[in-house]
Amino acid sequence: MSEPSVTIREVMLRDGLQNIREVIPTEDKIELFRRIVASGIRDMEITSFVNPKAIPQFGDASQMAQAVLKMKPEGVEVSALIPNLKGAQIALASGMRKLGFVMSVSESHNISNVRRTTDESIEELKKIVDLQADYPDLVVKAGMATVFGCPFEGKIKPQVTLNFIRRFYQLGLRHMSMADTVGFGNPQEVKELTGICVKEFPDVTFSIHLHNTRGLGLANSLAAYESGIRIHDGAIGGLGGCPFAPGAKGNTSTEDLVFMFEEMGVHTGVNLAALMEASRYFKKVKKDVAFSSSILEVGVPVPKGAITKDGSEQKWNINT
Ligand SMILES: [Zn+2]
Repeated sequence: MSEPSVTIREVMLRDGLQNIREVIPTEDKIELFRRIVASGIRDMEITSFVNPKAIPQFGDASQMAQAVLKMKPEGVEVSALIPNLKGAQIALASGMRKLGFVMSVSESHNISNVRRTTDESIEELKKIVDLQADYPDLVVKAGMATVFGCPFEGKIKPQVTLNFIRRFYQLGLRHMSMADTVGFGNPQEVKELTGICVKEFPDVTFSIHLHNTRGLGLANSLAAYESGIRIHDGAIGGLGGCPFAPGAKGNTSTEDLVFMFEEMGVHTGVNLAALMEASRYFKKVKKDVAFSSSILEVGVPVPKGAITKDGSEQKWNINT
């Protein structure tokens, strides 16, 4: 099979679990990881090295990292989120080498989220980058939250984000992620900003992390794709919430993303039926979970125009 034309990064085990209060047992998370990998996903965020007092769901971050790295799934990039230097140190001690630092480009959201000004966050990021002296294989990704809008400040100007990108670039970072944390962005804004980024920083690998808060997740992903963004985050079942929009839809559903790209002839390397199997497994683990995914709801189109609710009965496999 040819190399995927677009990489789908599955963030279920971090973003998807972040707002689930009930702590999911580590062995269930590991089984979910195994099933997601079996579907062909080759990039996954597996946990968050935050203070477990703040988010008890990630109290097992080190165990998760160790268990996943022990499995050594071939060709799978595993990364973890880190909010600060301490998180980075624990992640490194647990064997992780791909770390996603997160900060908001909106000053007030950053203060609310990580209790720091953006300048203080960049100081913290420098200390994390300095760890590369001891860990030459450490890859730090700069994750920018609230790129298209902030619950406190509203729309964020593209120039604000571009200034952060320039600062990250000067720190030597070549992996960056832009997140529409609260679902403010529209396809035109996404296309414009990502287009500028790709042109201005051709040696940076950009990824996009979109929340489907107001139903524009897929459209925004497509807009980013058209600008040249080739790594798209998604969470199975459209899980992941937004603390600023209670009850809101979460990340763009990975199932819907895979379906859209494959239907367009853009190869993802993901077997949709197997991915849906992983989602159904999670439904067994957490029975009251509320999915938000069109494909999980109605299935893929089958010959004769019939629609089935049960993906396992599909005769038509999207990857064949
Ligand atoms: Zn998110």
